[in-house]
This record gives sequence, C-alpha cells and structure tokens, in this order.
Amino acid sequence: MIRAEVRKKAVALYPEAVSWGRTNASQHAGFQVLWAQYDHVAPHSAGGTNELDNLVVTCAACNFGKMSYRLEEIGLLDPREFPIVVSHWDGLERF
Ligand SMILES: [Zn+2]
Repeated sequence: MIRAEVRKKAVALYPEAVSWGRTNASQHAGFQVLWAQYDHVAPHSAGGTNELDNLVVTCAACNFGKMSYRLEEIGLLDPREFPIVVSHWDGLERF
C-alpha cells in the first residue's frame, strides 16, 4: 500500500504518467490497487457489522469490485481463513 502523501508526491512529479483525479476513470490503476481500504466481509448493506471480525484490508479495486455481494455470490474465498502474509514492500517510502 502507498500512503496518500507518497501518491501525491508522485502525481506532482509525474502528472502525465500517474494521474489521480476524483473519478475512477481518472485515477491511475496502479495507484488504485495500492490504495488501502477496508471492506466488510458480510456486506454492510446486508446487515454486516463494523466489528473487526467482519472487516478486512483490501485494495480499492477489490473493494469496488466486490460491491455489496456476499463472498459466496461471487465465488470468493474468505480472506480471514488464510494466514497473514508479512510483506517487505515499503510503500515507496524511499521515493
Ligand atoms: Zn485487490
């Protein structure tokens, strides 16, 4: 994931290469998939709670793609059933 401050710096330095507008179509896909969001496993619209056991970290593309579907409706596995993956990705902090 990339912090907003890092993304803003990249956009300021390379506005033609990495756009970041207010709409999905104007946001660089590479930054969208590195944009950390949280999502409700059981959709909020279907009664899913805001309790931690119903929340997962996801990228924007996965969050928007899942929308308000239940995992079983779209054939996704429950991410809470997999071990946590420790990453050495630095979020472009050295940028
Ligand atoms: Zn994703």
